[in-house]
Amino acid sequence: MNIRIPLQKPLLSGRELEYMTDVMQSGGISTNGRYTQKCQGLLESGLLAQKVFLTNSCTAALEMAAILSDIGDGDEVILSSYAHVSTANAFFLRGGRPVFVDIRPDTMNIDERKIERAVTERTKAIVPLHYAGVGCEMDAIMDIAGRHGLLVVEDAAQGVYARYKGRSLGTIGQFGAISFHNTKNITSGEGGAILVNAPEYVERAEIVRDMGTDRNKFMRGEVQRYTWQDIGSSYNISEVLAALLLAQLESESEIHTSRRELYGAYCRLLAPLEDKGHISLPVIPEHCSSNYHIFHVTLAEGVSRGELVGHLGRLGIQAASHFEPLHLSPLWQSLGGAHEDLPVTESVSPRLLRLPLYAGMRTDDVNAVAEAVADFFGES
Ligand SMILES: *Cc1c(COP(=O)(O)O)cnc(C)c1O
Repeated sequence: MNIRIPLQKPLLSGRELEYMTDVMQSGGISTNGRYTQKCQGLLESGLLAQKVFLTNSCTAALEMAAILSDIGDGDEVILSSYAHVSTANAFFLRGGRPVFVDIRPDTMNIDERKIERAVTERTKAIVPLHYAGVGCEMDAIMDIAGRHGLLVVEDAAQGVYARYKGRSLGTIGQFGAISFHNTKNITSGEGGAILVNAPEYVERAEIVRDMGTDRNKFMRGEVQRYTWQDIGSSYNISEVLAALLLAQLESESEIHTSRRELYGAYCRLLAPLEDKGHISLPVIPEHCSSNYHIFHVTLAEGVSRGELVGHLGRLGIQAASHFEPLHLSPLWQSLGGAHEDLPVTESVSPRLLRLPLYAGMRTDDVNAVAEAVADFFGES
C-alpha cells in the first residue's frame, strides 16, 4: 500500500538538529546534562509538576513507579483491560497481579464506578490510563484510593499537556508516566518521564533511575563515591535525545493548536455520519481538556472495521485499530485468563478505529479522509 496520509508523524520544530549538534560538540552525550535538566524544568513549570525525571521510555517510567510502589508477589493492581501492554507488564514484572476493570463506552477510560468492587485486601494500586489524552474520572479514583489506602499511578503516556479539572494528567496520583515515543504528540523517538508527585518518593526515584545507585549525589559532590543502595535499572535518557526533546517541548503550543483544529474539523465533517447512526464520535467531558492525541470513531455494530481499513488503505489513507484487550491476550490466556465480565471492553474495542491525526497535517487531508469514510457508508 502506498501511504499518502499516514496515521501519525512527528512535527519537527526546526531546532532539533541544532540542539543535538550542540550536545555532540560539548561532549556530554551520556545523561543528566544541561538538556535533561532543561526538559525536566520545562515540564515541571508547564505541567505544574513537583518533580519530573526524564526516562528512556514511558515503559521505564511505569517500571520505576512499580518499584517505588513496592509491588511484590501477589499484590493486586487495578487497571482496564483496554490498555497498553506496558501498563500491565511494569507491575507484572514485580510479581503484581493485574485485576481488569471494564471501561466507559464514551471515553474508553476505566469505569470509575466499577473500581471499588474490584478492591480486595491484596490491592496495592490503581493504574488509570488516560486514553487519547482525555482524563479518567480522577476525583472518584483518588477518593477510592484514599479510602482504601491505595497508590495511584497514572498511565499518562498519551496525556502530556492534557488536563483534568485544570490539573495536568500525570500530576494527580502519587506517580504519573508520560511517553515521548515516536507516535506521541511530543517525541524524542524513544523517551518518557516519571512525574513524582509525592515528595517522600523523590530521593528514592533518583536512585532507582540510576541502577539503584546514588550516582547523582556523587555527581553533585554530596558523597565521596557512589554505591549500590536499592534495586533499580538503567532508566536514564541519553542527552542526545533530551536535546531533541527540548526542541519538541518548545513547540508544544504549535503542536497543540494544530491538533485541536484538525480534531475539530474531523468532528464537523463526520457529524452527519454520527447522525445517520454509522459511527460515534469521540467524547471529551466538559471538565477535561484534551491534547487531541488520537482521533477515533466507534463504528456501529455490524460495520466491518477490516473492510473500512481496506477501503481507506486503497486510497492511501492509513487507519488503525488500537489496543487488543489484555484479558484476551495470549499471555493472559496462558495463565488461565481470569477476569471479571468486561462487556463494554469486549463490545467497543473491536469497533474502535483511529484516523490519521498529526500536527502539521493539511486540512485538505482531513477533508479527504472524512470524504473517504463517508464514501464507504455510501453517504458522500
Ligand atoms: C505509548 C504508550 C506506552 C508506552 O510508551 P513507551 O514510551 O513506548 O514506553 C504506555 N502506555 C500507553 C497508554 C501508551 O500509549
